[in-house]
Amino acid sequence: MVAARLSSNAVQGGPADLQALPRVLGVQPARGAARGTLLFVVGGVHGNEPAGVRAIRKVLAEIEAYGLVVEGRVVGLVGNATALAQGKRFLGTDLNRLWTDARLEALRSDEVSAREPETREQCALLAAFEEHIAAGPWARVVLLDLHSTSAGGAPFTIISDTLQNRPVAFALPVPVLLGLEERIEGTLLSWFADQGHVAVCLEGGQNELPSTVDHHVAALWLTLVSAGLLRAADVPGLAAQRARLENSARNLPAVVELRYRFAIPEGALFEMRPGFQNFQPVRRGEALARIDPGSGEREVQSPLSGRVLMPRYQALGDDGFFVGREVRPLWLELSGWLRRARLGWLLLLMPGVHRDPLKHGELSVDRRVARWFTVEILHLFGYRWRTREGRTVRFVRRRDAV
Ligand SMILES: [Zn+2]
Repeated sequence: MVAARLSSNAVQGGPADLQALPRVLGVQPARGAARGTLLFVVGGVHGNEPAGVRAIRKVLAEIEAYGLVVEGRVVGLVGNATALAQGKRFLGTDLNRLWTDARLEALRSDEVSAREPETREQCALLAAFEEHIAAGPWARVVLLDLHSTSAGGAPFTIISDTLQNRPVAFALPVPVLLGLEERIEGTLLSWFADQGHVAVCLEGGQNELPSTVDHHVAALWLTLVSAGLLRAADVPGLAAQRARLENSARNLPAVVELRYRFAIPEGALFEMRPGFQNFQPVRRGEALARIDPGSGEREVQSPLSGRVLMPRYQALGDDGFFVGREVRPLWLELSGWLRRARLGWLLLLMPGVHRDPLKHGELSVDRRVARWFTVEILHLFGYRWRTREGRTVRFVRRRDAV
């Protein structure tokens, strides 16, 4: 039996504790009325990021062991189970690029091949989300999506900057990264946020480090408390969990906004220069990576000064690296005030900014006319960059619950 298990693991290639994972790692309370907050915590949307799954197991087991009373419902889910079993980021397609309206419509009408491993994964996840949401009415739905990075460095959260996301993200004492949804389409995070739910992604640290599991564990306990599912006084060692995150992210800015993504050209070989960590300061023009080393080699430089984020030291994915810049807390306060005061109509007084008559909540901006700080001003008012067609840039309003 042991021999058979060992050999099957050798075929699968992934760690022993990640074989044949159930979709649902646990539900707390196991039976209970649907009221209050529904918290989904997902681990391993990327199969080379096992820390989240391990953290969810640990916290759910401890809730049970301590006999804690959960108000609301927490559901622990596995993201890409087949990829986790093989220790690979994904098998056919990145599961964290598939959460677009068009794709979900195709899934529901069976237009997508169910032979693709990630299609099966997505269908199973979607079914789990829908089952628990339908059990409501819930006061609110929260997603905590646990990830890790191939580079080392401090943990951080990623959110779409809606007013309802802020308090849950800021309850974790680590930097908050804004603007990823303007650079990447189809993440689970933005799909949840676009439905008006609360959605926070935690990048817990380097993929294989044991401390990454600890960061996820700490973030999950703190989120259970900040989202109102557990009382702070009931959680043993909560202060130590908070201190663990605080210590890991010392001297870093509270908020960083992404300003640049280096997309790896299709078919190109990408090699990040060694030694970069998340939040490491970089200068404009600094060489960060090489494309096609050896034949036709080309150096990739940072187009701006700032902090490097998610430099790619793994085999799969087309995000080479990102560069972000610090956002002053005052700017966020101003933006919150402007959005609650519903002053968005002021934007239409700016030259080159027009309301889209066909799509509610969308603005088109003529870049020839509106040059200065247009993106910054639109961010302040809760809009995000969507597409560019020639001179026209389209922005869409984020779904604030105000
Ligand atoms: Zn990930």
